[in-house]
Amino acid sequence: MTALPSPPTLSVVIPLYNEGENVALLFDRLMPVLRGLGLGFEVLCINDGSKDDTLDRLLAVQGGVPELRVIDLSRNFGKEKALSAGLFHSRGLAVVPMDADLQHPPEAIADMLAKWREGWEVVFGRRDARTGQKLSERLFAKGFYWVFDHLSDVRLPREVGDFRLMDRKVVDVINRMPERSRFMKGIFAWVGFRHTEIVYHQGERAAGTTKFSPFKLLRFAFDGLTSFSNFPLKVWGGIGAAISSLAFIYIVIRIIRTLVWGVDVPGYESILVSVLFLGGMQLLTLGIIGDYLGRVFDEVKGRPLFIVRRLYEPGETRGDGLS
Ligand code: UDP
Ligand code: MG
Repeated sequence: MTALPSPPTLSVVIPLYNEGENVALLFDRLMPVLRGLGLGFEVLCINDGSKDDTLDRLLAVQGGVPELRVIDLSRNFGKEKALSAGLFHSRGLAVVPMDADLQHPPEAIADMLAKWREGWEVVFGRRDARTGQKLSERLFAKGFYWVFDHLSDVRLPREVGDFRLMDRKVVDVINRMPERSRFMKGIFAWVGFRHTEIVYHQGERAAGTTKFSPFKLLRFAFDGLTSFSNFPLKVWGGIGAAISSLAFIYIVIRIIRTLVWGVDVPGYESILVSVLFLGGMQLLTLGIIGDYLGRVFDEVKGRPLFIVRRLYEPGETRGDGLS
């Protein structure tokens, strides 16, 4: 064990997946800002199993940036887990996660720190406008927030991403949360604490393309929903009860009709329709139960959230099989 120096005031945590082109751009803009703050800081970059030269470029930067610590994950775990890895290894009294593509302006960190010094424990960065987003994406986001608000107990702040400042005690709480399903937006909102916000302008990606396909985004939205709400699991009980009641009324009507008017046309269509409808509903329900069961299975297995291949500390290099 080496004696660790006293904790820096600020940790900036950046997950990177195939961001080789952005590494130099990022540090060119980030370092002057951080150096200008006049406080002790560290930059934690998490290489989330990139297939390009992201890691090499980070290590090259490390030569000139003694505040840079690089965490190399054993494979691509996804942004949420990479972020968890960064929060876990961060030491700062205030921690700011940000994206590697410069969509989060480093300059805004100064505003966040000012609020933090006023005593706020969480300072959200709120986008002034959704730039570079298609109408379909905007509608999707709107729909997601609407559903999420109505189905879960936590309220997600709007136009707020992962770019924010968190006090050490908030980060410690998040690090202690054992769940494997890391919907960070929800987790950040769930932990509470005294929060305020600053407004920033989100520009276009510096280089490369988004790492989230529409399908990945849909999966992400569904994950978020089922991590923070049991409603999709419970709603079927109500629907089932409603359908059974209707079916019961229908049966009574049929019996009375048969008794009064005798047997008329055989009810082929009505049987077919109800069988198909109920069959479809049952499959859907099973799917939803399956999703929750899978989630329980994931939690029960208790596997580590992420696996660190190696932690590159500035000046020294050491292997580290930490989870
Ligand atoms: N990212 C990651 N792992 C992934 C996907 C993304 O670490 O599996 C990182 C990515 O490198 C970037 C941040 O998460 O720093 C945000 O990704 P992106 O800019 O693609 O998302 P968008 O801005 O389009 O929502
Ligand atoms: Mg981006």
